[in-house]
Amino acid sequence: MDPSSLERLREVLESGWIGLGPVTNQFEQELARSDLVGKYPVAVNSGTAALHLALVVADVPKGSAVIVPANTFVSTAAVALQHQCRVILADIERATGNIDLGSVREILEAEPDVSAILAVHYSGIPCDIAGLNELSKQHGVTVIEDCAHAIGSMWQGRPMSESPHIQAYSFHATKALAIGEGGCVTFPDAASAERAKRLRRLGIDMGARSWSNPYDIPELGFKYNMGDIAAAVGLAQLEGLREKLRKRRSIVRRYRERLAGAPVELVREPHDSDRSGGFAVPILVKDRERVRKELDAAGIESEIYFRPLGEFPLDATRPTPVAERFARDIICLPIHPLISLDEVDYVCDRLSGCVT
Ligand SMILES: *Cc1c(COP(=O)(O)O)cnc(C)c1O
Repeated sequence: MDPSSLERLREVLESGWIGLGPVTNQFEQELARSDLVGKYPVAVNSGTAALHLALVVADVPKGSAVIVPANTFVSTAAVALQHQCRVILADIERATGNIDLGSVREILEAEPDVSAILAVHYSGIPCDIAGLNELSKQHGVTVIEDCAHAIGSMWQGRPMSESPHIQAYSFHATKALAIGEGGCVTFPDAASAERAKRLRRLGIDMGARSWSNPYDIPELGFKYNMGDIAAAVGLAQLEGLREKLRKRRSIVRRYRERLAGAPVELVREPHDSDRSGGFAVPILVKDRERVRKELDAAGIESEIYFRPLGEFPLDATRPTPVAERFARDIICLPIHPLISLDEVDYVCDRLSGCVT
């Protein structure tokens, strides 16, 4: 663990208070000052909790339907079910791995009870935020962004955090800002953030606290708050984040240069003014199982993001053929701030040797 994390942890552990308190508050203020997450951040104990709180605070009606892309982590759909909504899977674009707005439009025209779209910036590749906005206005539905991969991403030359939608971020161990477990949900307005701050801690409101009344609960919430131990690690991680994101970008660039002539499809941003934060380096290949085994034999670890949600028991019936094909062809190549460009070259050489 880096010295800064240890130093900040020591301060919290020696302070006499390790729960939700001043350090979580400071972490939120630092997040708000950065342009790395949306406007009014509320720190919680996971990205999944952030997504669920987003649905609650957006007042997505229970019993309605929520559109979720098939190419995402199971959390994105699980929170809709937890909120007592029906999940409708949208198909994806093969080029970006992101939700296909054509598929979304079809669903909106066929299903009158849709109230929200949970859009995922797959691998940090920005979704078409303007297109989503337009559809949401036409059909009166809420857009919530799953930004679990999207720290450091840019959409049309602007930080993704400037989007007008509610956004959910994850600080899980595998993400760019890694606390271990944690997340935050951000809102375009302060009032929603205040409500989320109550709801993340069972709905407790200490505003009218008195000798005989410890607290009120105007609206019952959840046990989702972050604590100061996690926030201390978060503050330290945030300090080094820009440098790490730069490193991720240089790795992504190197992969793209080196694989430009190889028979692989690079999953990537649709426009030059868009930028992935470099959460993963997804490529599509023929004969994925063989290629992945050959990489493994060369000592190269790869990942599969994601199994398509249609394969899980979510009671989601719409077919998503593009997502299924994508999931059969996908390989996510190694990326981490500690990987050297020489190691990237090694991966590319071995990969080029085994793809056809
Ligand atoms: C990691 C992840 C989440 C959930 O985050 P947790 O912090 O693990 O709860 C949600 N959506 C996507 C796309 C993710 O990758």
